[in-house]
Amino acid sequence: MCGIVGYIGPRDATPIVLNGLKRLEYRGYDSAGLAVIQNGKIEVRRDAGKLSRLTELVNGSPIHGTPGVGHTRWATHGAPSARNAHPHLGATGRVVVVHNGIVENFLELRDELIAEGVDFNSDTDTEVIVQLVEHHLAAGLDLTEAARHTFRQIAGAHGIVLMSADEPDKIVCARIGNAGGVVLGLGDGENFIASDIPAILEHTRRVIFLESHQMAVVTRSEIRVQTLDGALVTPKVNSIAWDAAAAEKGEYRHFMQKEIHEQVRSLTETLAGRVDFTDGNIRLPELHLTPELARNINRITITACGTAAYAGMVGKLLIESIARIPCQMEIASEFRYSDPILDEQCVVLAISQSGETADTLAAMEEGRRKGALLWSIVNAVGSQAMRVADGSIAMQTGPEIGVASTKAFTAPLVDQYMLAILLADLRGTLSEKIRRALVADLRLIPDVVGRALAREAEVEKVAWALKDVRDCLYLGRGINMPIAYEGALKLRKYAGGMYCSERPLAR
Ligand code: GLU
Repeated sequence: MCGIVGYIGPRDATPIVLNGLKRLEYRGYDSAGLAVIQNGKIEVRRDAGKLSRLTELVNGSPIHGTPGVGHTRWATHGAPSARNAHPHLGATGRVVVVHNGIVENFLELRDELIAEGVDFNSDTDTEVIVQLVEHHLAAGLDLTEAARHTFRQIAGAHGIVLMSADEPDKIVCARIGNAGGVVLGLGDGENFIASDIPAILEHTRRVIFLESHQMAVVTRSEIRVQTLDGALVTPKVNSIAWDAAAAEKGEYRHFMQKEIHEQVRSLTETLAGRVDFTDGNIRLPELHLTPELARNINRITITACGTAAYAGMVGKLLIESIARIPCQMEIASEFRYSDPILDEQCVVLAISQSGETADTLAAMEEGRRKGALLWSIVNAVGSQAMRVADGSIAMQTGPEIGVASTKAFTAPLVDQYMLAILLADLRGTLSEKIRRALVADLRLIPDVVGRALAREAEVEKVAWALKDVRDCLYLGRGINMPIAYEGALKLRKYAGGMYCSERPLAR
């Protein structure tokens, strides 16, 4: 998934955009670029490779100005190269775009534009967006209307940000479908745009999440959200409880190490306010669960991707054994294609750290279409998976930057355990004695996790002993089977180089 950052305000956009991109680096990318309006002209720097390459370009030929947009690209159409890196300029050089997603009808659109005499300068699908905007501008529309027309013409799912040298007082952006989030950050006399919260967390914690098929016109002082049909929308402003320091590595070698160690705190916070250890009760008010509703449920389908799916496999076992409700876990990317059997007595429970996982959102849509009750367990408060659900549980983990997931794996295990107890209690299938015993066990979790983490030096020794083995077999049964899958997934990521320590482990 690519990264997007935009800034409009009195400050120089270049360092803000570069810094924001750096904070999205964990998502992976093959090229990076930025565009800034400097003295009435759009200046672009971009190349294949890492952000250090982009910084080199900017240092060699600095740009100062505002507004600015930046992008880290995961190529889908066109090789990772300077020519295909975003931002992309239109034919006049007066409009620029960064884009996350795939323009599914780009071939037809490009052919039409070529027939009109437009020359294309890249092999990307993205370029049709900016060329179409220029086409509508040439017909007399302003940037907002030209963008709106374009957004309605392109098929697929997208996050898009546009800027024009002729209207430098604004940035226009849109979210279409579930390609990834578009987060708008509210500042004081300045505003921010990003594909994910950590990019702008050092500047603001007040954010608006664009819904699918919404666009926004962002100026220094105002954010006007509207539908693609032009109806004005009053957006909800969310306060992100995370602070910028939470998204810094601090004394740790890398984010994953930091987040492993944050599990004691994140699990303590997961329990705080939800578990009453005196009366042995669980409270999950955001689920809006009543005894009647709980008794009406005859099946729960958990849906998620990757690590969250393994957490869901554990959840299935917990819910079945404690609440005695039939439960299954379906990989979200397959769910909507399987014509799932669902009705209003079914719950679809989605688990997603970001709350913006495209396949998980699509699975939720499928659940909604078929009348199921929708629940979600998400980390990013205010994200789409939380908004579209009938009830939700917010993970209390703070930002998770590391890939692969650690604290956002263990938090939903506890969330689902609490959910299972609550369901059983509301359905009247749990004796008070067992409920109290199950709840009492929860109290032990932070301490047990803390003790496990205190053995890091021993774990490191094992890691050194294993680091060159060719094959590794993870074994587990019952609740430990998904844990074995998750362990194997983490080793594959590490061995495959997707997760890299920035400093080698000390021997
Ligand atoms: N489809 C676009 C491209 O290949 C955007 C890819 C992305 O989301 O980074 O350039």
